[in-house]
Amino acid sequence: MDPFRSLLLLSSLFSVAAPHSILQISPGSRRHGDRSAWKGDELYCDSWRFSVETNDAGIWTQVPERCVGFVREYMTGERYASDCGMVSNNSMSFAGGVKIAGDGKDAWIFDIDETLLSNLPYYAAHGFGSEVFDETAYNEWANLADAPAIPASLMLYNVLKRLKFKLILLTGRTEVQRNATAKNLLLAGYSNWERLILRGIDDVGKPALVYKSHKRAELEGEGYRIHGNSVELCSCDSVALSYGNRRQFSSLWA
Ligand SMILES: [Mg+2]
Repeated sequence: MDPFRSLLLLSSLFSVAAPHSILQISPGSRRHGDRSAWKGDELYCDSWRFSVETNDAGIWTQVPERCVGFVREYMTGERYASDCGMVSNNSMSFAGGVKIAGDGKDAWIFDIDETLLSNLPYYAAHGFGSEVFDETAYNEWANLADAPAIPASLMLYNVLKRLKFKLILLTGRTEVQRNATAKNLLLAGYSNWERLILRGIDDVGKPALVYKSHKRAELEGEGYRIHGNSVELCSCDSVALSYGNRRQFSSLWA
């Protein structure tokens, strides 16, 4: 039996769009008026969320207008933090059972955006995914190095550090963003990573699956044993790690 078990939890509705939730759908009269219509949106948006998280929705560019409130509530309410906490706890439980060899090769990989750092402030200023993703505007925001840590991820990161895992950060960001990214990570509380891997010139344009799989293979070629991979929910990484004696921990919405 394949020993790998994929744990998909947090959230990654922010890859090019945004997130979700259960309560407020649209402000104003609906909640106090036509209850059946509001319930219809709630049901629809929860099903939409499910289709995104399972990747059935395929490529999409914007959160449906009727689900923007749903996404906002999910990300800014208690649910997202709770989901992140669950993933972090499961990751720590798994990591605690890993035997560290002591040769400096036991590794854990982290994605950065929507895994270590939250892009919520950017999306909050851009309609919670209701706008088509603007890469230029996003990069300008990322270069401000002002993204906050996801608290549950910071806790996990520090626990893994104490357990003597080598922490390798593998991001889709490009080399030109190295300084801003490192600065942001440090300001958010992350430190002492083993390596920060960004897309080089040859990696630009590669699908994430190809790029990240290649980098992981390189690391394994260097002798690293990759025990865990923390990413936001993303089929590219899920597929890439659906084998071997390792485990992936994912967040929803990225
Ligand atoms: Mg990410």
